[in-house]
Order: sequence, then structure tokens, then C-alpha cells
Amino acid sequence: MVSRKPYLSKSRVISAWQCPKKLHLEKHNPELGEVSERTESLFATGHQVGDISQRLYGTPDSVEIPFNRKMSMMVRETRALIDGGADFPIFEATFQHDGVLVRVDVLIPDGNGWRAIEVKASTSVKDYHVLDCAIQDWVMRHVGLSVTSMSLAHINNQFLYNGDGDYDGLLAEVDLTERVRTVEPTVEMLIEKARLAVTGPLPVVQVGAHCYKPYECQFINHCWPTDTEYPVAGLGGSKAKLGNYVALGYRDVRDVDADSITAETQQRIHRITQSGNAETLDGARRTLNALPYPRYYLDFETIGPAVPFWKGTRPYAPIPIQWSCHIDDGAGDGSYENMQHAEFLDLSGEPPMRALAEKMIRCLGAAGPVLMYTNYEEQVIESLIALFPDLQEPLKSIVDRLFDLHPVVKANYYHPKMLGSWSIKAVLPTIAPHMNYALLDGIKEGTAASEGFIEAIAPDTSAERKVELEQQLLRYCRFDTQAMAAIVRFLE
Ligand code: SF4
Repeated sequence: MVSRKPYLSKSRVISAWQCPKKLHLEKHNPELGEVSERTESLFATGHQVGDISQRLYGTPDSVEIPFNRKMSMMVRETRALIDGGADFPIFEATFQHDGVLVRVDVLIPDGNGWRAIEVKASTSVKDYHVLDCAIQDWVMRHVGLSVTSMSLAHINNQFLYNGDGDYDGLLAEVDLTERVRTVEPTVEMLIEKARLAVTGPLPVVQVGAHCYKPYECQFINHCWPTDTEYPVAGLGGSKAKLGNYVALGYRDVRDVDADSITAETQQRIHRITQSGNAETLDGARRTLNALPYPRYYLDFETIGPAVPFWKGTRPYAPIPIQWSCHIDDGAGDGSYENMQHAEFLDLSGEPPMRALAEKMIRCLGAAGPVLMYTNYEEQVIESLIALFPDLQEPLKSIVDRLFDLHPVVKANYYHPKMLGSWSIKAVLPTIAPHMNYALLDGIKEGTAASEGFIEAIAPDTSAERKVELEQQLLRYCRFDTQAMAAIVRFLE
């Protein structure tokens, strides 16, 4: 008898667990979703970590079940290997039970059965990973596979790459068998929930914190109100509370009942948004006027690959690859057009950190505040100190001169169009409408800059593309320090 049940992949079951409406839309209206660059970058990282796991767990005779649009073919190939007495690791082994399909990252024979391993690019085990593993375990055991253990291998962020392609120790394996078997009774209920979401009408689900966790949902712009001047999400703060406002019918920040807002920041956003005018307090002018000259506006771009490729680096640790600096000697009018500009970018593919640090030390001289936006620059300089202890003294003295602009802006400035954010990208267009990150060509945010750098240094990138990426990277980083200078000039 042919089963009328719809096929469900493991990721679809997880979608239903996060939100049945998400799964329904993925199945019936995927065109309503918007996949962010960050989400795409996370997918790419997942693939890199998957490739490394095959090197780490692989043996000369290990086999990968190739991806095929016909899942049934992958299931048959897996079954043929197992029934044929495979005694080697199998990657992407594919199983199906009761319409639920799973692809198991790593399956290793251990004499008594099979050790199953799910590989994740995260740096620890999360609750939803247990569910993820439980779905796989449930399917494998129902098709008669003897699963002796179910583990999760995640990135060990203490791993230090010593070069020569040696990634032994990059993955930390955690045995989840016991936890998986404990939650397994809920798997069948979850599968039923997923089936209903796929076959039934659009589920009614209010927006809330679940729209962002564990994954940022691609339907946020579809489900959350976006059709007013200041959508209610622009009030910021707790996503659960914002979801309650939407449930109450509030669509715009100005609709919200002021008495229901308890947090000071949200009260301020609400008050200023209702007024319709930006608020600038004098504290910013006083604080900034007190800064001596020369003033240095500094910004780094970094990469933080899950799989490190330069000797001496660790997974996800921020590695500076570029900086821009505008220097205001106090003689001009404070506009970035009248400042000196220096920058660093090396696309040779060799580790650029040493030259980057040395050129920065020379550029920043011995005195004068070094302005940054958020304290990320401090973390990056600290990471350079860890890499080059002999540069500790000059780098430490730069750390002592750092001045964070972000808290000054946050305490003294808000414009309704910032929609609850004091990020430089939110502030800039409100003080200088002609300066908008969204209008930049190509690279216009940090994730794209990291990816652009990695693409530019890849050996197979064409010379033409490399030049294009170089220009975009220089333009983007320079724009960050121009933006800081513009914000200071405005507030002063
Ligand atoms: S945005 Fe929220 S409510 Fe809408 S589908 Fe996604 S998780 Fe569900």
C-alpha cells in the first residue's frame, strides 16, 4: 500500500518544533521568506565543518552517499552498503521511516552496531541539538539499525591550529545517547505536529521570541508588522514583549500604550518616536569637545573562520585583516573630507596580522584619542597582543587611548528612524542622509566583508574579481571611519 503521508526531512521537523507556521510557509510559500546574508554564511560554515569532519573520521575505504534529488535512491544505496556488511565509515547515510528522512553525518561500525555522529559548527551542545539527534536515532532504530551511540561533534574553540592541515582536535565529541533516548518519546508527537503543519491550513501563530531562536526565521518580514512608518519591533527590547504588543494589535511604535512600557530605553524610544523629532542632548557635545587632537578614527574588519587556516589561530577567534583610520589634526572643520586617511589591506593570502599591527602602531603615533564604535576594536587589539607579545607595549598604549563613541551616542541621541538601534548603520542616515550603508556597491556589512576577504585570497579567484573585492573592502572599511567622523561632527 502506498503511504499518503508527506515526506519530512529532519530539518522540516525541526522547523515545526520552532514554529509550525514556519514549516507551513517553507512548504507552500517559500517565496515569502528572505534568507539573510548571515544565515547563508552559517550554511557555508556548516559545509566547511562537514568537509573537515569527513577528513577526521574518514578512512581510506570510507564512503559518502552522494546527494541525489531522488531520496529513495540514497536510501537504497545506504541499505545496500549496510546489508552488504560494510565495515567502514559511511558519510551522509540516508534512512527513511514512516515518511521521515534523515541523513546522518557520520556512521562508524564498532563491532556491535553503528556509532552515529551529528556534526555541528557550534561551539557547544544546545538543547535543540539533542532533538536533532533524537530524530535521527528514532529513524535509524525503526529501520532496524543497531545504533550503539548517538553523539554530537562540535567545534572545540580552544583548538590551536598548528598548520600543515592538521585538524586533529578541532571537533569535540559529546555522547548524547542517554539524553536522546530520554527525549525520544516526544519525537513521534513532533512528527505529527510537522505533518499537520504541512498538510493542514496555515497555522495561527503569534510572533515572539521563537522567531529568532534557535534560528532567525526567514519569514520575519512577512509575519511581523512592517507596513507602518515605525513598525512596533522598532521599540526594541524583549522579543517576547514585542510579540505581545503585536498580539494586542499594535503595529506601530506610536500605537503602544505608554503605561505598558517599563524599561527606560523603551520609554525613551516611545516618547521620541511619538514626538516625531530627533532628540540630541548636550552631553554629547560636552564630552566630544573635551577630546584633544589629533583624533584618530579607527575601524577593523576581521575574519573568524570556524576552520582556521593560518597557523597559530583558533576557531572563530576574530583575526584582523584590514583597518581604516581617519586622522583629524584639529586644523580643519572636522569633516572627513579634510582629514588624512590611512588604511591597511593585504590580499596576498599570507597571514597579514603582523604587518597590520606594525603599520597601525606607526599610523596612530604616540598620543591622541583613538575613537571606535563599540569596544570591538579593543578586543581585536587584545587578540593582536596575544599573537605578538613583543608588540605588547605599543599595542597596550593604543588600548589605553581608545574612546568608545557608541555609549556617548546612545546616551545623547535618538532619531525615530533608528528603529530601536544605535548601530552605526542605523545612526548614520539620520544625521547624514547622503551617507547610507545600503547605498554602497557590493560589500555593505561585516559578514560580507569577511566573506569578500576570504574569496579574494582564494587561489582560484580571478584577478579581475580580486580587484573588484579589494575596492569594495577598502570602500566599506573607509566608510566606517568616515561615518564615525560624520557622527562626531554632527554631535559637536
Ligand atoms: S516569523 Fe515567527 S511566527 Fe512567522 S513563521 Fe517565523 S517563527 Fe513563525
